[in-house]
Amino acid sequence: CGIVGYIGKRGSQDILLEGLKKLEYRGYDSAGIAVFTSNGLEIKKSKGRLAVLEDKLKGEPLEGSVGIGHTRWATHGKPSDVNSHPHTDNSAKFSVVHNGIVENYLELKDELIAKGHVFVSETDTEVISHLVADEYNGNIVEAVQRAVVRMRGAFALGVLTEYEPERLVAVRFASPLVIGIGEGENFIGSDIPAILEHTRNVYILNDGEMAVLTRSGVELMTTGGETISKEIVHVDWDI
Ligand code: GLU
Repeated sequence: CGIVGYIGKRGSQDILLEGLKKLEYRGYDSAGIAVFTSNGLEIKKSKGRLAVLEDKLKGEPLEGSVGIGHTRWATHGKPSDVNSHPHTDNSAKFSVVHNGIVENYLELKDELIAKGHVFVSETDTEVISHLVADEYNGNIVEAVQRAVVRMRGAFALGVLTEYEPERLVAVRFASPLVIGIGEGENFIGSDIPAILEHTRNVYILNDGEMAVLTRSGVELMTTGGETISKEIVHVDWDI
């Protein structure tokens, strides 16, 4: 139901948790984050309030300056730890947060199972992480583009891969997503309040658009791969 993402120089865990708190009003049943740590892409997630996730992280914080976070409003699969986002694939090299519904997920899931993928959750979202992994051959942007054309439904996505830790990929299709532009750091969020504490300069993605974030910049394109340019919206209101 809510997405946040960060790529920069600061610790990402607290930025993600604070952003998720701003999205609480949307309602949720589970929460989770994925962060690039010195051990690779690590995920912590759990059913219940954000406080439950925060408790889990207290003993073992995820240290790293790139991450994605999610609050879930279950549509496919009951609220549970394993159904919470972020989701990953069998190599655990990819991590996905998703708002919305993948309508043709059963068909895609059958196809991926036939190829040897093993699913652990009941969600439609897990199909996306396996599909991106399956489509990957060295370029995460192209893999996400190839995955997205196969998917029907509504989605806003945040995607990370351990193979390319300097990039965060975001996609919007019928589910809102904004990009926050900082200095030496960039953000994604389901809405402006989630990132407003950090920047007032944003790009509002339209359907079929995606963004590739690095620490130093944001590249905008269509899901078909065509480069686009957009005006920066300066937010002059407060929450
Ligand atoms: N359909 C996904 C799920 O049930 C995402 C729901 C959401 O937008 O939070 O896990």
